[in-house]
Parts: sequence; structure tokens; C-alpha cells
Amino acid sequence: MPRPIEALIHTEALAHNLARVRAAQPDARVWAVVKANAYGHGIERAFEGLRSADGFALLDLAEAERVRACGWRGPVLLLEGAFEPRDLELCSRLNLWHVVHCAEQIDWLAAHKTQQPQRVFLKMNSGMNRLGFRPEAFRSAWARLDALPQAGEISLVTHFSDADGAKGIAHQLAVFEAATRDLPGERSLANSAAILRHGVSERRAAPSSLAPLGGRAPSGGLGAFGTDWVRAGILSYGSAPDYPEHDIAHWGLHPAMTLRSRLIATQQLQAGDSVGYGSTYRATAAQRIGVVACGYADGYPRHAGSGAPVLVDGVRTTTVGRVSMDMLAVDLTPVPAAGMGSEVTLWGHGPGGALLAIDEVARAAGTIGYELMCAVAPRVPVRVAAAP
Ligand SMILES: *Cc1c(COP(=O)(O)O)cnc(C)c1O
Repeated sequence: MPRPIEALIHTEALAHNLARVRAAQPDARVWAVVKANAYGHGIERAFEGLRSADGFALLDLAEAERVRACGWRGPVLLLEGAFEPRDLELCSRLNLWHVVHCAEQIDWLAAHKTQQPQRVFLKMNSGMNRLGFRPEAFRSAWARLDALPQAGEISLVTHFSDADGAKGIAHQLAVFEAATRDLPGERSLANSAAILRHGVSERRAAPSSLAPLGGRAPSGGLGAFGTDWVRAGILSYGSAPDYPEHDIAHWGLHPAMTLRSRLIATQQLQAGDSVGYGSTYRATAAQRIGVVACGYADGYPRHAGSGAPVLVDGVRTTTVGRVSMDMLAVDLTPVPAAGMGSEVTLWGHGPGGALLAIDEVARAAGTIGYELMCAVAPRVPVRVAAAP
């Protein structure tokens, strides 16, 4: 028998979450962001659930090839554009759209031999200071691109640094709008946090929180703050971008990944007994614990330590002691009937409709759901289970 750990990918949850994007931004087209192997879910598996998206956005050219190999003929966007000049050959061959965020990428395009002009997304650094042209340099970059026969339609893109928090997006929107006001082209502005927190339903819930900007009304074929394309990443996978302020229940999202395993042993502790490496956990009274076939070599965060939430037979309990490479321990006090072979849900859907959001586990480990889902290790078998 193989080790009992496995990851399940719920394609119906992916489709459900994508529908939440459409509800929040009904007038925008949706990029399903499938970088990092679809946030650890697997490009091909995620494609099954996300095929009603308007396009797929990613970073890696090999991943773009995999999306095309799924049979996708629609838009594919390289979010960081070309990494070297010859990447543009693949863009021509596979008809990839690409971000242009720096002068070098314009030079490469100018030197690229192509019959077909390429669709480009010119990126503005509106305050995040990661990628893009500064607002004062944006217009001349646009003019340079516009003069190139290799550049076809030019779209405008920026990325928000604080869509999930108190600072919000208004300051960056104002910068972007001021510098692009009279430039033609489609706009792509929002990540998951902006889609949810600054989308239609939130606007209705709190109409004063976000005024339409710069004369761009929320109606008229554009999304709530004037975007033709939104870029939906984490929310599609069923993690709340602004947890713990809001959880997936608040946003109506369903987990697209379950990581589950089984108990492979139990131990009866007496008061004073310790558990695991470093004896960091010590029982204060008699206590039964279970040993789970899951460790940090499977991608479970070692930093979770004692007290992280976990489900045993669908009942909520906590981890005890340090996470080791192949095992971790859980308190069986709330589940006295559990024993050898009991099902353990590390995150996602448990038996009997029980649910453990990846965001809760991430928080216990001092990280975010993004990191955990991307870190599931190659040794964990993955399979598609459409519905939980
Ligand atoms: C990863 C990424 C996104 C998606 O972000 P989420 O927070 O996962 O929705 C959007 N835009 C760009 C440029 C990205 O790199």
C-alpha cells in the first residue's frame, strides 16, 4: 500500500470560484492566473476547472506551452513578459501576449523578426516598485511601442500593492488614471483582493468606499473601477486574499485543494510525557495522540508547530509538537473513537462536509495560503476529484 497521503484537486470548486469573479466584476474579462503550476494545483488539472475563463496568465514559457497543449486557443498572457530576446520567437509561434515592463523588452521587440504584430500589455509602476515604467516615463514608452511594426494592440496594465489592506488601491488608481487618461487601449488592473474588495458587490455594500474614478463609470462595459481584464489568482483556488479580515465563507469561495492523509499510529501519553523532536510539547495530563503520515517533506509547514488546526475523521483538533519530515502528531482528545487509519484533513474538505480553510493553517504557520498550496511536494500523489 502506498503511503496514505494525497492531494485532491476539486475542479468544480475552481469553476465555482471563477463564477464568483464574474459576479464581482461582471463587465470585465477574466484572466485565470495559473502561474507556479496553477498555484500548485497543476496546469492541466486547473485547466479543467477554469476553462470558462477568457484567458490564462502565467510567467513561464513552458507553462504557456502546456496551456496550449490543453487545446486552449484563446489569449495567453506572460505576466513578466520575455526574459530574453528569443522568448519572442515562442510568443510568435504560440501567439502569446506579453507584458512589456522595461526598456530592454522594447529593444528586443524592435529587433524581433515577425510577420504578425504581437499584442503587448505595457506595465506601469504605479507605486509597487516591482515591475513597470514609472508614470512620467510611461507615455514615451507607449509612443515607442506604438511606432514599432512588431507591436500590435497595446493594452495598459498595473499591479496593486495594498488591495488586501487598509491602504487600498485609490492612490495607485489615481496615479494610473492621471498618466493614461488619453491613451487608448484596454486596461488590466485587479488581482484577487481588488476583484473582491473593490468589486461590484462590495461597492453596493459600501457605496461610499470607492467612487468611480476619472470619469470612468462602473457601467459602460468596464468593471467596477474601470478595468477590461481582471487577473484572478488566489481566489480561484479557494483562499481569501485578505484573511483573517475576511475568510472564504465571507467571500463565498470553495477550497480547490484538499491535502489529506491517515493516522499510522496512536500513543497514550501520561502527564509529563513529551512529543517529537526537541520535546517541545509536554502533556499536562493523560492524553491520546495520533501520528499522521504527513511532514514537511510533503509540503506541510514545519513552522506550524503545536496548535495548528487539523481535522481527524472530520472533527477539528490541533497539532502537537514539532512537525518532522514525514510525520506530525495530533491531539485525539476531541475524537476518542479515532485510531489507526482514521482520515486526517490537513486542509480542504474533510468527511461529512467538514471544512478546514488553508488560510487557517497558513496563519498558524505565520504564512499565507499562497505559499502552502504552491509548496505541496512532488512526492505527494495528486488526483482530480471534481466535487469534494
Ligand atoms: C500573481 C499575479 C496576480 C494574481 O494575484 P492574486 O493575488 O493571486 O489574485 C495578478 N497580477 C499579477 C501581475 C501577478 O503577478
